[in-house]
Amino acid sequence: MNALRTTGNQSAAAAAPYRNDFLKEVEARVEDGEWVKMCMQCGVCAGSCPFGPYWEHTPQKIFMMIRAGKRAEVLGSDAMWMCTSCYNCVVRCPRKLPITQIMHGIASYAQELGMAPKMQPTRDFSIQFWNNCTTTGRVNELKLTMGLYFKDGLVAGFKQGWTMRKIALGLVKAGRLNPFELFGGHGSKDHKGIAAMLKKARDLQAQRQSPNH
Ligand code: SF4
Ligand code: SF4
Repeated sequence: MNALRTTGNQSAAAAAPYRNDFLKEVEARVEDGEWVKMCMQCGVCAGSCPFGPYWEHTPQKIFMMIRAGKRAEVLGSDAMWMCTSCYNCVVRCPRKLPITQIMHGIASYAQELGMAPKMQPTRDFSIQFWNNCTTTGRVNELKLTMGLYFKDGLVAGFKQGWTMRKIALGLVKAGRLNPFELFGGHGSKDHKGIAAMLKKARDLQAQRQSPNH
């Protein structure tokens, strides 16, 4: 009897790493995550993605990894950050999975948990873009560009600016870039409305992610 119990405990211990809590976590906390279990691993999304040769993991593989419980590998991957939202995969998926939304949802969840890869350029850009446009309700192109150029330091920023000087001058002449935007810039007329909208979005997200949802 004791021998049987020991064997049972050993089996449970051996199976523990394969308990798939991660799929449940994705279903509960990632936007459209409840669709992941519908993937039939046909590979159409992987073959349709223009980024196919550059992915660390294709959407097909990411969904397989989620189902296999590979939490750290998925959330720490830069694959989701490579998605350009072209929707090629979505229109071709035979199971109609909202693949683009799921990929962005996983990226956003990884960022929220602090598990997203730190030096990923799309992540850097997303953070800068979000901070930029939510400050005034409008995108300040000059500050956004400068933020990106100078993110690796003064020298790198000036080098990049010098390389792009002709394009920048062209944009200024065409009225597409205003140097005075650096000292403030235009904003939305309804700051309070924008702030209320963002708060509402945050509340809805928190509500969706609460255990009682
Ligand atoms: S196309 Fe759809 S069903 Fe096929 S692997 Fe991709 S997500 Fe899964
Ligand atoms: S939406 Fe994203 S994942 Fe889908 S095909 Fe385009 S780049 Fe690839």
